[in-house]
Amino acid sequence: MKKIKALYIHFPWCIRKCPYCDFNSYAIGSCPKDENLYIETLKHNFEQFIENFQNIYLSTIYIGGGTPSLISSDSIKSLIDFIAVRVPHEQSMEISMEMNPGTVDQQKLKNLKNVINRISFGVQSFTDRSLKALKRIHNAEQAVSIIKQAQDLGFENINVDIMHDLPYQTVDAAIHDLSTAINLSVQHISWYQLTMEEGTEFYLSSNLNIPNEDILEEIDLKGKQLLADHNFVHYEISGFSRESYFCRHNISYWNYDDYLGIGAGAHSKITDWDNKKIFRIAQDEEPYKFMQNRNFLKNLRDVNPESRPFEFFLNKARLLKQNISLEEFESLTFLKRAFIQSQLKKAQELDLIKYDDTFVTITEFGKRYLNSFLELFLV
Ligand code: SF4
Repeated sequence: MKKIKALYIHFPWCIRKCPYCDFNSYAIGSCPKDENLYIETLKHNFEQFIENFQNIYLSTIYIGGGTPSLISSDSIKSLIDFIAVRVPHEQSMEISMEMNPGTVDQQKLKNLKNVINRISFGVQSFTDRSLKALKRIHNAEQAVSIIKQAQDLGFENINVDIMHDLPYQTVDAAIHDLSTAINLSVQHISWYQLTMEEGTEFYLSSNLNIPNEDILEEIDLKGKQLLADHNFVHYEISGFSRESYFCRHNISYWNYDDYLGIGAGAHSKITDWDNKKIFRIAQDEEPYKFMQNRNFLKNLRDVNPESRPFEFFLNKARLLKQNISLEEFESLTFLKRAFIQSQLKKAQELDLIKYDDTFVTITEFGKRYLNSFLELFLV
């Protein structure tokens, strides 16, 4: 029986909504922030979970959003302390917090130094022109400055989010963004492509001037080479890390492990090992509804057997360097491997995977067309 090792905490507010963002986030002006009530509700949410799920031994906490750095350090500390005294956890638990460079200063970093041990800066670009196109609230100089200040204060596990394929972006500009992050000696870079998510302002725009396919391919090739040349391990689709700084929290998702999620719109995955069931729980998305809620289990749903292979491979396939164990498939989904025989056979015929009695290995072709592989499991 595997323990629940990961906890996600969601803070839904942002200064303003970025035009490409489909996260559960709300501009403060459109959705007033009641920090004290929200923190109290998070505590209720957590308490109700631990009354119902005892199989917890936390190894990671991830504070995400939205923009959690809009929340006072006192509130973050009180919440982490509350959690830490209530559940068993690793002494060296990874505690990550997302920070928007436009909402954090040296004092806040100092106050959080003994509360969190990993920072994920939502930089997106070190080029002012791109930051303007993305309507971010910070500029490149602020981003560089706050990363250096965090390092000066002794933060030794820093991630920088960088996006590529941005409006008007050239290959040189994309490589400049990556080089700046590398030269800052951060431990982890999440390098991901701008995608047009339904319902966002960008999705509805017709003239964004996104680079053409040839430029995208060149950015992809040169960027990955640059990261490899500087000893960043490409361990997950968008994750590049120095050895031993892989994000433990994200790995737990990609390993299809259980996790708890508290806060507006947060999701949890729980396995009932005795009854061989998998559950998902989603919290109310809108902050005011979440804050009125007192039953945090009301949206619990059973993941039916037909949906489990897709979920399993969707997550497992993100970790690039490993073979996917069929024994693990059986133990985590409670399904026999015969259940997915026809899909595996088809995927092998299409050269998307190779498989034997023990492992599924995604081919280079399959990594490129991962969706084609995953679609075989859609029901
Ligand atoms: S700051 Fe992050 S979470 Fe907030 S709107 Fe922008 S991209 Fe979304």
